[in-house]
Amino acid sequence: MPALTRARRPLALALAGAMLCALLTGCQQKDEKNETTIFAMDTVMNLTVWGGQEALDGVVAAIYDLERQFSATDENSPIYTLNHSAGTAVELPEAAAGLLDQALQLCRVTGGALDITAYPAVKAWGFTTGDYRVPSQTELDALACHIDYSTVRLEPGSSVLIPEGVEVDLGAVAKGYTGDVLAEELKAQDVASALLDLGQSSILAIGAKPDGSPWRIGIQDPAGEGYLGVLKLEDMAMGTSGGYQRYFEEDGVRYWHIIDPDTAAPARSGLASVTVVSPSGLTCDGLSTALFVMGLEEGTAFWRAHRSLEFDVIFITDDGSVFITSGLEESFSLAQGYEDREVTVLS
Ligand code: AMP
Ligand code: MG
Repeated sequence: MPALTRARRPLALALAGAMLCALLTGCQQKDEKNETTIFAMDTVMNLTVWGGQEALDGVVAAIYDLERQFSATDENSPIYTLNHSAGTAVELPEAAAGLLDQALQLCRVTGGALDITAYPAVKAWGFTTGDYRVPSQTELDALACHIDYSTVRLEPGSSVLIPEGVEVDLGAVAKGYTGDVLAEELKAQDVASALLDLGQSSILAIGAKPDGSPWRIGIQDPAGEGYLGVLKLEDMAMGTSGGYQRYFEEDGVRYWHIIDPDTAAPARSGLASVTVVSPSGLTCDGLSTALFVMGLEEGTAFWRAHRSLEFDVIFITDDGSVFITSGLEESFSLAQGYEDREVTVLS
């Protein structure tokens, strides 16, 4: 074999080193950007992971697995089985039982503003099928009577019992909880940087951007197409609930998918959107829905009374006013074109 020239030798050595490294450890992929878009949990998800393709494949597989466990509409899901076995105890798989348990705790702590048994009302308005309709007041009164999370009996272990007329829906918390599971798995694989946009404004940021700067997440203007603000996030979850995310209109009135458990009708609390920021995706998802139901005044009082839950909030009211809790003072800023908007800091 002819001797390598002086110029070629370092290149050959580098290539051999890279190939050996790839063969032995796969380390050439470690910080590689891998991204994909999938449709799951009834929404479009954009997933970006700085790690090997395997890490991203693992994320996608985990999402589909959790979707199968949490769906209320998939006839093969354990939640569907539970909803069709009223009066008979049903054994749930581990993740579904774990989420149900934590969701029930959030229902309790929010005094029922979050209520995972709002499902019959969600269905009656047509949000599960797209066959939208406005139920009569008599129908709504009857539906409201059956919304009561305290009737769900989760026995130690994973056996669940619900009474006749009650149905469970984990839609308000599933994406946030899924983000937490994914973050744990990715961190166990030493992934230091990932942005998981789980759709409908459920975001999980792992670490910072690969260049070390924080992620910059746009906060949707509930009354328009653009971003009203920008939030800097690092190793944090974020969830937004808003009437603009899923709705229909009839006779000039807008009806959205977030239900007030007291009335079985879309919650009208004076808020257009609520964004929650917390290290826990479940907290973000569950509380954004609950605070939307509560409204600004009750929601602010809830934030003040539950600091131990480690969360901050951006409230945007129907008239476009912006209120942020004090923990977001440094990380929130108004977007271009919205600089004139008044921002009130709550403390
Ligand atoms: P989110 O988009 O996280 O605010 O969740 C809204 C979804 O949760 C809806 O599409 C319903 O399936 C369900 N839902 C609506 N209202 C409530 C409520 N008050 N408590 C719990 N789940 C709800
Ligand atoms: Mg939610």
